[in-house]
Amino acid sequence: AKADGRGCWRFFEPEMDARMQARRALETDLRHAVAAGEFELFYQPIVDIRTRRTGGLEALLGWRHTGRGLVPPDAFIPLAEETGLIVPIGDWVLMRACAEAATWPGAPKVVVNLSSVQFTHRGLVDAVAAALERSGLDPARLELEITETVMLQETEATLATLRRLKGLGVRIAMDDFGTGYSSLSYLQRFPFDKVKIDRGFTRELETSPRSIAIVLAVIALCTDLGMTTTAEGVETETQFAVLSREGCAEAQGYLFSRPRPAGEIPALLARPAGD
Ligand code: C2E
Ligand code: CA
Ligand code: CA
Ligand code: CA
Repeated sequence: AKADGRGCWRFFEPEMDARMQARRALETDLRHAVAAGEFELFYQPIVDIRTRRTGGLEALLGWRHTGRGLVPPDAFIPLAEETGLIVPIGDWVLMRACAEAATWPGAPKVVVNLSSVQFTHRGLVDAVAAALERSGLDPARLELEITETVMLQETEATLATLRRLKGLGVRIAMDDFGTGYSSLSYLQRFPFDKVKIDRGFTRELETSPRSIAIVLAVIALCTDLGMTTTAEGVETETQFAVLSREGCAEAQGYLFSRPRPAGEIPALLARPAGD
């Protein structure tokens, strides 16, 4: 440990210092990324299990950085959340996704991920309303995905925000279902339209009878509660067959498509199912 000159003790090893500097550099770059137009949305098809047709697409954020190349969301979203930058970034995602979706043939849904930090911010409902209004997108075509971290926060305020969002006519899905601590109690308390079964369960569908049992129970429970189910991370025909047999409504994963650049989506939607 050494004094940092301001009378504070720092218990950092040199590598730790280097990591802090890298983080600060990333933060500086992130501050400029929205204005510099460095963000881009990729879209991953979500298929109807019975028809294999694309009924929706999930918007996944990418950051095209001049020096770093294409930076995946996991590498910058945590920092964007800590710094609050996720709010302007998230507003951009909403605007962009709605504007792009409004041009797609066949009017599929567009799915947008929301961070818990956006939820604690008062402007969220207005931002969603503005994105819908400016794009002219039918609200029924917009689906918002939230994770359990959203529900960990103050229940009344969260519930009020969810209700206001639903009041706009959009749909709400619970992402990464089954990975948290109290997924079931959240289903009881919050008005979801859909549950997204986490990739961890999908992955084990081929090898683990226990995972099959869990997925079967989740699908049955959601159906009884009037919610639909989507399985994420579907990579094999075997996984798809199990999901189909168990009555899951939608599937998403590399078996059908990786996330594609926005420019490819109109052509992708114009193709017949199964291609
Ligand atoms: P997520 O919402 O659970 O998104 C699914 C992730 O799984 C995506 O990673 C997707 O590319 C990946 N994936 C899809 N199919 C498969 C598959 O078959 N196999 C495997 N192994 N992976 C698959 P990605 O794009 O790296 O995004 C990671 C996470 O970053 C997302 O997880 C989401 O939590 C967050 N994220 C992405 N875009 C946004 C955004 O616009 N706003 C916010 N707040 N978070 C975002
Ligand atoms: Ca998601
Ligand atoms: Ca997910
Ligand atoms: Ca995830």
